[in-house]
This record gives sequence, structure tokens and C-alpha cells, in this order.
Amino acid sequence: MNDMILLKEGEVVLKGLNKRYFEQKLTQNIRRRLKPFGSFRVTAMQSVIYVEPLEDGVDLDAAFEALRYVFGVMTLTRAVACEKDPAMILRTAKEYLDEDLRAVSSFKVESKRSDKGFPMTSIELSQFVGGELNEAYPHLKADMRTPELTVHLEVREAAAYVHGAPVPGAGGMPVGSNGAAVSLLSGGIDSPVSTYMMAKRGLRIIPVHFFSFPYTSELAKEKVIDLAKQLTAYCGRMFVEIVPFTHIQEEIRAKCPEEYFTIIMRRFMMRIADEIAKKNGCGALITGESLGQVASQTMEAMQCTGAVAELPVLRPLVGMDKEEVIRIARKIGTFDTSILPYEDCCTVFTPRHPCTHPKLPNVEEAEAALDVEALVREALDGRELVKLDPRKGFQPT
Ligand code: ATP
Ligand code: MG
Repeated sequence: MNDMILLKEGEVVLKGLNKRYFEQKLTQNIRRRLKPFGSFRVTAMQSVIYVEPLEDGVDLDAAFEALRYVFGVMTLTRAVACEKDPAMILRTAKEYLDEDLRAVSSFKVESKRSDKGFPMTSIELSQFVGGELNEAYPHLKADMRTPELTVHLEVREAAAYVHGAPVPGAGGMPVGSNGAAVSLLSGGIDSPVSTYMMAKRGLRIIPVHFFSFPYTSELAKEKVIDLAKQLTAYCGRMFVEIVPFTHIQEEIRAKCPEEYFTIIMRRFMMRIADEIAKKNGCGALITGESLGQVASQTMEAMQCTGAVAELPVLRPLVGMDKEEVIRIARKIGTFDTSILPYEDCCTVFTPRHPCTHPKLPNVEEAEAALDVEALVREALDGRELVKLDPRKGFQPT
């Protein structure tokens, strides 16, 4: 049988004139994601994307699983293609959905017809196939309102397609369709979620992590790379930038007032992230900050940290409760890694009494003892690039 996968486009369909551009991004992302699973034809028509294997022995289950995490897809379903003939459609439905039809007690048939040359209307086709299935499976009750199984028939240009219930896709917009951004990725619960959320809005992501060896261990770095690997299921291929942060933190500790340690450290993160973003043609920075969560996430603190970035700082979690963030972290499969007990550089040299309502001029003054430019340059020069590919990575559960 011509086993295949049908994907319904999500928000992409709403985009009017941009539709083609979004659709191209989406099919490109899908093609790239399918590479490890064999050779496929990917075609888009009327907001449906057809994924057909071009060779025997492709792992369609694995391909389906990978596509569940591709942004821009509203629903997915395994389907089978057949000749556009009512008798063939019926036969295919019986063969393909036999197991499902035996397992349920109620069903309905829903047909769509975009090929107006087909000899039956959609209602006639549904009635014909529904009637025949009822005879073939006498235990089945037709139920138009809440059927256990809906048999979907679609008569399109190239062929007819039969499928059962679709499953929800990842939603959102195709990665890259709205540009790119640098995401500040710590090992915590929040920043993997903020990264996921902005990738869902169509941003290609460059994760940046600040690493304070030996104050934080090699394991802390591995943890962040693991989190980024998990995110590749959604974000696709990524290059993680690991930035050495130790010298900056030591300088801050030696030369700045303790109450401003965290805020000054954050300003360095922003400056460096901003530089990396601009070098890579990114339009924004992303953080996992949430209003009032800690001393460095008050409005005043955000103003002081945002002030050194030229690019806009996107904070998708700013209005969310921790519980809501945790729910998403569990859904995307990052939570268990995030709660592993390796220290983040933020917990190194934490002030006993951080300033919660810092004023920008005071922070600037506190920072004046540092050679900011040289420190930023040194950190940028020492950064390490880690390439992550979803092909070799894993899928969240
Ligand atoms: P998270 O759970 O994301 O670590 P958090 O609630 O622990 O967040 P902070 O530690 O104050 O909050 O960090 C706020 C934001 O700053 C993080 O969400 C992240 O975007 C960024 N950040 C913090 N530490 C690092 C780091 N070591 N490398 C890169 N970004 C970081
Ligand atoms: Mg943190």
C-alpha cells in the first residue's frame, strides 16, 4: 500500500501573500528533518503537505514521530493513497483501517472533495462508503456526533487518500520564518521553555551559554548541551555558543559593590549575547526571565540589563507563573534535565543582599572600575561552538 503521512499546515494558512514563503520554509524544514529516515517526496497543496516515501524500507514510524515536533504543522496523520474510484476507496478503507474498525463500536465517514470531476459529491461518497462499512462490520453503529472513529476520505488532484484520526502537531510557525534570535540558555527550568516558545513563533535559535569553569563543573556544561539537544527536536539544527565567563565574574567580585554583582553580571551576558546576535544576523535576544521571580527580575533590574543590548530582549515568560512554566517544561521533555543539581554560574558569587530596585546611573557607576570592552572581547574570543543535529539527537517523550 502507498503508506504516507499527511500534514495540515497551521497558522501558515492565514498568511495571505506570505503564504508561499511560509510554506517553503515549512517544507524545507520538513525535508531536512526527514533526511535520516530515507528518501521522501514532500509536496504542499491547498494547505496540506504530502510526505510520500520514495523507496522501500523507510522508517515511516520514526519519520512520523520526528514530524510531530515540527513547528507550523497543525495536525498529522498516517494515510494511504489510492486510485480515485469509489470502489477502490472503499476497499482501501477496509484494508487500511480494518484493525481500527474492529476495535471501535461507533464510526462515521467524512469526505472532502477538491477534484470536482469525481463522479460523487462528498456526501454521496460518505454515504456509499459508510453504508458498505456498516454491512461489512455489523457491530458498528453510525454516530454522526461523537463517533469513536472517523474515517476520513479525501479526493484530491493526484489521488484519493484514506486516513483515521489525526493527532495534534506542534503548532506555531515554521522555524526561521520570522528570522533568528540568540537565546540565553542556562541549565535552569525557565530558559529552555523560553527558547521553545520563541522557536514556536518562527525564530531560528542560536543558544548562548555562559560557563564559569571551575566554579561550575564540566557537568553543568554537559547539562546545558543536553537541554539544547532536547530542544533540537523542535528547533532543528543548532550551534550552541559556549562563552567563558569566569574572568568576568572574578573581576566583578574583585572590583564592584556586592549588591550589584548579579545585575552587572547580567549586563555582561546581554552585551556578549548582543554581539553574537549581530554577528549572526539575529534580530533579538531571548531570556527566561519572569517578572519578580528573583531580585534580578524586577522591572528596574530588567531596565538595567536591557539597557546594554541594542537588540530587543524578548521575555516570553515575563507574565507566567512557575507552575505554568513547569507544565511546558514537562511537555517538551526538558524538566528532568533542568532539575539535575549542577550549579549555574548565577549561583556563584551571589550577593547576600542584592539590590532589587537598581537605578541605572548607580549601576553604571558601580561598573566603572571594570574594563568592560576588553572583558567582552576576551569572552567573545574564547567562545566554543558546539554543533547539534536532531538526526543524532533524541526526541522528547
Ligand atoms: P533559568 O531557569 O532559565 O536558569 P532562572 O529563573 O534561574 O532562569 P536566572 O538564573 O536569574 O533565572 O536567569 C535569568 C535568565 O538569564 C535565564 O532565564 C537565562 O535566559 C539567562 N541566564 C542565566 N544564567 C545563564 C547562563 N549561565 N548562560 C546563559 N544564560 C543565562
Ligand atoms: Mg538560572
